[in-house]
Amino acid sequence: MLVAAALATTLALAGCGQEGAPGGGTDSGFEPTVAENVTVEGSPTFDAISQRGRVVIGVRDDQPGLGFQDATTGEFSGFDVDIARMVAGGLGFGPDQIDYRVVPSAAREDVIERGEIDYMVGTYTINDNRKQRVGFAGPYYVAGQSLLVRADDTEITGPETLQGKIVCSVTGSTPIQRVRDEGLTEPGNIVEFQTYSQCVDQLNNSQVDAVTTDDAILLGFASQNPEQLKVVGETFSDEPYGIGVPRDDDAFRTKVNDLLQASFDDGTWQTIYDGTLGASGTPGTPPAIDRY
Ligand code: GLU
Repeated sequence: MLVAAALATTLALAGCGQEGAPGGGTDSGFEPTVAENVTVEGSPTFDAISQRGRVVIGVRDDQPGLGFQDATTGEFSGFDVDIARMVAGGLGFGPDQIDYRVVPSAAREDVIERGEIDYMVGTYTINDNRKQRVGFAGPYYVAGQSLLVRADDTEITGPETLQGKIVCSVTGSTPIQRVRDEGLTEPGNIVEFQTYSQCVDQLNNSQVDAVTTDDAILLGFASQNPEQLKVVGETFSDEPYGIGVPRDDDAFRTKVNDLLQASFDDGTWQTIYDGTLGASGTPGTPPAIDRY
């Protein structure tokens, strides 16, 4: 049932995608520069990539404007996907040498620890808890927790109005943890799924009253369906997005940080942002990288 519902949403979203629309599933047109003769001294991750001749990247497939897979063409697009491609290019691998793995929120640490992906680019908040299991390059963007409700809702206007409301979010995410920790609604009113598109389905069907996660994710869903959905209130957290890498591969983390910094400095980040998250006209600038 749930799989069918999620698939229906994906298909509906793909069908709604407009050329160049903010949060649409359309390719931004970003073409990564592919570096030559790249070496990353002392990096087991880079050694594995080189031997394989391909990069395996963890992404999302249901987040419009961030990480989205077109149901018809199979193509991935969005801000995170372009960042992922930019990094692959800097490592010497073009878009045709990338294998994407769709990794839900709750599985990110596991797949990185098990070496099933080389790196993860998927709305992945950097925090100390996760740093015990994975490393983070970045941040390359800072989102903030927000709320998505039905367009005709007048009662939910911010986190303090959620008491007694049914709130949906995703297993293993920082926003669902915050709802619990701060008691924003009663424990019995928290509904969780593996993906945000499942929550959005529930919202559209009036099974839940609000979906909570990063504003960047929610704005993508709202822009796909502005007649029925809206994002309300101010953001109520900082969610610095990092690229998840194997925890002990410092050489690889440093290399990815170098590539991010170069993209901030040479305007590539701006091109990617303007073609995806910023396509609606919201200006954006890169954050400061944290080389811990
Ligand atoms: N950025 C938050 C997190 O990493 C929410 C988005 C997500 O679940 O991917 O948990």
